[in-house]
Amino acid sequence: MRLVLLGPPGAGKGTQATKIAARFGIPQLSTGDMLREAVASCSTHGLRAKHIMDRGELVPDDLVVSVVINRIDRSDTANGFILDGFPRTVKQAEALDQELANRDIELDTVLELEVDEDALLDRIRGRAKEAANNGKCVRSDDSPEVFKTRLDVYRAQTAPVTEYYRSRGLLNTVDGLRSIDAVTEELAAALARIPAGRTIAGSRRT
Ligand code: AMP
Repeated sequence: MRLVLLGPPGAGKGTQATKIAARFGIPQLSTGDMLREAVASCSTHGLRAKHIMDRGELVPDDLVVSVVINRIDRSDTANGFILDGFPRTVKQAEALDQELANRDIELDTVLELEVDEDALLDRIRGRAKEAANNGKCVRSDDSPEVFKTRLDVYRAQTAPVTEYYRSRGLLNTVDGLRSIDAVTEELAAALARIPAGRTIAGSRRT
């Protein structure tokens, strides 16, 4: 099963992608995590991405597409994957379609978490507070100023990705304001509704 999980920053994509990945036995491919690892290891990609990420802006499409495609080409994605945080621009979505088509595979569905902006700001404050209380590092891009930039970037560059997938009949929107478990169940129910003909097991196109 090949999935994309969309939603604004702070909507709970990471949490839900982890749960869906575990339930369906597929790897979670989080571009935010992959880029943070690249930054931590001071790789060429990481050095290029660090300052952009600190500002809450998007790293260049070519960089993130190459990171994702290299990851998709690893053997653990044979039964599918859930993309978390990618694509974030229409160009990335088009590149993904092209790269998947080159491999004779396609997305099964796109899940979207819908959450209003006031709730997002509350969540992001909670996330920073919880990390601090647990003695964990607070993500530098979770500060209120950078978070505002991330929301602006989402509205301008990522929201059109939703329309891109809606127009292709792939989009399933779920209310992301409910409890974590309730959202997971709604996502699982949306996956169970994938039209016949789309592969649930992630087989190749015939
Ligand atoms: P996330 O953990 O998904 O919120 O991502 C953290 C940061 O990584 C974002 O604010 C961007 O700077 C960068 N990033 C993650 N995914 C992408 C992507 N698909 N395209 C561009 N930048 C990304």
